[in-house]
Amino acid sequence: SSATTEECLHLGKLVVLTGPSGVGKGTLMRSLLERHPELYYSVSVTTRSPRPGEIDGKSYYFISGSKFEQLVAEDEFLEWAEFAGNYYGTPRETVLNQINSGKLVVLEIELEGARQIRASFPSALSVFILPPSFDELEKRIRSRAQDSEEAIARRLIRAHEEIQAADEFDIQIVNDDFETALNEIEAVLFK
Ligand code: 5GP
Repeated sequence: SSATTEECLHLGKLVVLTGPSGVGKGTLMRSLLERHPELYYSVSVTTRSPRPGEIDGKSYYFISGSKFEQLVAEDEFLEWAEFAGNYYGTPRETVLNQINSGKLVVLEIELEGARQIRASFPSALSVFILPPSFDELEKRIRSRAQDSEEAIARRLIRAHEEIQAADEFDIQIVNDDFETALNEIEAVLFK
């Protein structure tokens, strides 16, 4: 009963929120959902271990590497990518069904996945969240103390690369003042 990509383009809408790790897109996303419970937030699948406080099925679906490979082989992902040593993917069928039922679906994903979505859904609206500066981003990544030094180093390298790609996306928003950034995202989503 899953809708094809083609069918979905005429019904609901798809928004991709991307930007480097630590930029605050997860926090922006959560606030956006509080203000707009009518949005559908796609819960991703990951092979990463849960951080303290993360809930399976709410933050992510936490699964093993072999299960992830199986889902890839079965073409169950709309997009997927490797990020800092773990795999992340967007469940295809749920997202397509939500779009098909007229929902505004928001994905909060890293660069490679965002590129895949742009390629397969040219009508998707893509938003890139930028940090005020790289130094500020580094501070934010380091302050999330749960990550190991190695994971932090990988995320910093990746963040450098991701920021170079900001221009590929429809809209760029700088997350300096949180409220301002949130209002800007809201404005582009509901204009
Ligand atoms: P974290 O491990 O910090 O929760 O997420 C690491 C990165 O993976 C973040 O940039 C996050 O947006 C991204 N991410 C989360 N879910 C997905 C997904 O389903 N697909 C892709 N491509 N990236 C994701």
